[in-house]
Amino acid sequence: MNNWLELNYVQTFQQLPNSLYSPVTPQALSNPKLVAASPACAALFGLDEASLNDDVTLKILSGQSLLSNWQPIAMKYTGHQFGYYNPDLGDGRGVLLSQVAFNHKTWDLHLKGAGLTPYSRQGDGRAVLRSSIREFLCSEALAALNVPTTRALCVVDTDTPVYREQAETGATVLRVSQSHIRFGHFEFCSFTQQTNLLKTLCDHVIAHHFNELLNKDSHNIYVDFFQAVLTRTAHLMAHWQSIGFAHGVMNTDNMSIIGDTFDFGPFAFLDDYDPSFICNHSDHQGRYAFNQQPNIANWNLAVLAQALLPLADKESLVNILEDYPSIFEQSYFEKMTQKLGLTGDAKTHQSIIENTLSMMKTCRLDFSYFFRQLANIHQPETHKHLRDLCLDITAFDNWFTAYKAALKQNQQALNSEHDDARKTRMNQVNPKYILRNYLAQNAITAAQNGDYSEVQKLFTILQKPFDEQTEFNHYANLPPEWGKTLEISCSS
Ligand code: AMP
Ligand code: MG
Repeated sequence: MNNWLELNYVQTFQQLPNSLYSPVTPQALSNPKLVAASPACAALFGLDEASLNDDVTLKILSGQSLLSNWQPIAMKYTGHQFGYYNPDLGDGRGVLLSQVAFNHKTWDLHLKGAGLTPYSRQGDGRAVLRSSIREFLCSEALAALNVPTTRALCVVDTDTPVYREQAETGATVLRVSQSHIRFGHFEFCSFTQQTNLLKTLCDHVIAHHFNELLNKDSHNIYVDFFQAVLTRTAHLMAHWQSIGFAHGVMNTDNMSIIGDTFDFGPFAFLDDYDPSFICNHSDHQGRYAFNQQPNIANWNLAVLAQALLPLADKESLVNILEDYPSIFEQSYFEKMTQKLGLTGDAKTHQSIIENTLSMMKTCRLDFSYFFRQLANIHQPETHKHLRDLCLDITAFDNWFTAYKAALKQNQQALNSEHDDARKTRMNQVNPKYILRNYLAQNAITAAQNGDYSEVQKLFTILQKPFDEQTEFNHYANLPPEWGKTLEISCSS
């Protein structure tokens, strides 16, 4: 493990033509204070944990110092926002400081909230404390849930004023990922008719992130590339749907080409199970509602396919797109099968999975809480407790009969020697602790008053979401009513 000065910095993105980026220098923020840091993220690129409390970290995070071998840039990209093409996008408030090579991987260090860039448009280039804390906590929580995601090294608060609906303070997050390349990068190259640039970008991404394709005896590597991106994206959607994660702004500029969860805005983990839940209050049509996410990913992939048309034949791309629903469903049903404690071929469990979700909707059961409790449903007190939570007792009773039948068909039974094994399996996929909006909000309110301890505590709990951690039981409780109706501002 190394300190900041000892890391192996590389500038791979700068090997690409400079129409894809602009050199920038972060604009410093004043009086930085460390809110929270993730040692697990630091370990990814070989930074030692002690360095997180170092003054250098604060100086880097506040844009006050750059290391001499960095060449910071803002990336140019475009994208479809709420269905409409926007040619004017790019890193408007984020700076790719440098990249670090470590253990055969390369990690981008991207400072979000670093000030104006050529792509800032009317924005101020800043990020506020509340959205920075939410991004930090959610990135690291999703990673602990084994969901592919960009990571966050730390979040820093400052004295620099930033104006949104009211005066707030500027903050930054250091986002860490193997790539910050989005679907929107490909749209930029293609829709501005820069075919050579598009090809160069594809070759770069394949070489760095899909190099398994290079050894394939292939008819057209760009078709294979599209297939690989589609597969990763379908698996990501299955992950989100199975843990009740609503992203909120699935514009194509927020879609990672390597299949990470990317760009955290008004996201939410579901409380009461409502499939058409909309976490983004500016999304009046529900374009990005929870149950639309897999379809929207498909739509976004169609935009990517269109962008790849100069390099690949339409028929092949369309054939691949047609496979998306089955790849998503296979992955999704596998995950839901595990959540229910069932084993074997996921497709055979489709009916009990749909039955369970339908009952949860009718009964307004809390998504994560229900699945975690389900591992104990053989215990009469848990069965009674879940039943008592239901708005429709008959729906619950009918479902329970069906669930017992599904277990029996699966050579399992309640009140049997299978209970412990099933519970162990289920507890590895059904988290006890999730980043509920109200928990994030409590931590943010304390932080806005200068007390960062709740952010740090929540971060610690969410590092082990599947563990009992009984001393924190109250963080796994059902949310209070006010916590279910929180409106998260999009002005981040
Ligand atoms: P987002 O909604 O965060 O995905 O951002 C959409 C676009 O707006 C991206 O190009 C961002 O860089 C840009 N953007 C968002 N907030 C700001 C800001 N405060 N200042 C400058 N650009 C911003
Ligand atoms: Mg974005």
